[in-house]
Amino acid sequence: MLVIQDLHKSYDTGKSKLHVLKGINLNIEEGEFVSIMGSSGSGKSTLLNIIGILDEKDSGVYDLDGIPIEHLNEVKAAEYRSKFLGFVFQSFNLIGYKTALDNVALPLYYQNVPRKERNLRAMEYLEKVGLAQWATHLPNELSGGQKQRVAIARALITNPKVVLADEPTGALDSKTTHDIMKLLQDINNEGKTIIVVTHEPDVAAQTKRNVILRDGIIESDEFIDQIVL
Ligand code: ADP
Ligand code: MG
Repeated sequence: MLVIQDLHKSYDTGKSKLHVLKGINLNIEEGEFVSIMGSSGSGKSTLLNIIGILDEKDSGVYDLDGIPIEHLNEVKAAEYRSKFLGFVFQSFNLIGYKTALDNVALPLYYQNVPRKERNLRAMEYLEKVGLAQWATHLPNELSGGQKQRVAIARALITNPKVVLADEPTGALDSKTTHDIMKLLQDINNEGKTIIVVTHEPDVAAQTKRNVILRDGIIESDEFIDQIVL
């Protein structure tokens, strides 16, 4: 599903170059549930953003579902993102003036799916995350955990090959974290490939494979005995 070989990324910080990723090698198969851990500033988001075609590598190989991801223009990058990827962020990134239903339906709007079908499918996904009765509510009427469920429904509605989640539980308390990780486990058990960036070992323990980034390389990469919730 995902092949990364000797991938490098630096940022230009004016005076000097900050070499963040120094030769990453990572293969992820369809259906895996992977966590990427590392201390703050270790390059987790940088790697996830490259995987998500939100940012570009400097060198190395990145193939997504057999397609080499190289120097895409913004139109092509957006096309690949909407075709292959679903995103979940720490801060939910919901649109405040749109209802839960409309937030979930939004990716289909960009795919020119007619309104009636959009809303039907959005309702299905809201049901899937247990929020059907909240469809007409605005984000500020929802709890943090509910907002993240809406974001997860939105990430799934295009049936992406891979779901990318950057610190999805970073803004949640421990009970809600547990519930969200349980939802991601359920989604993975249905076959969806999921990559979660986290700095919380408890969260990583709820995935099936843990990759640890340190000093720009992968320090360890192990399949783990997942704590099933
Ligand atoms: P993490 O997600 O593990 O906390 P990041 O990938 O966000 O780490 O950042 C890795 C390093 O790269 C940090 O030192 C950060 O300050 C730096 N960095 C991230 N994005 C940029 C950018 N757009 N420009 C310059 N430096 C950046
Ligand atoms: Mg980060």
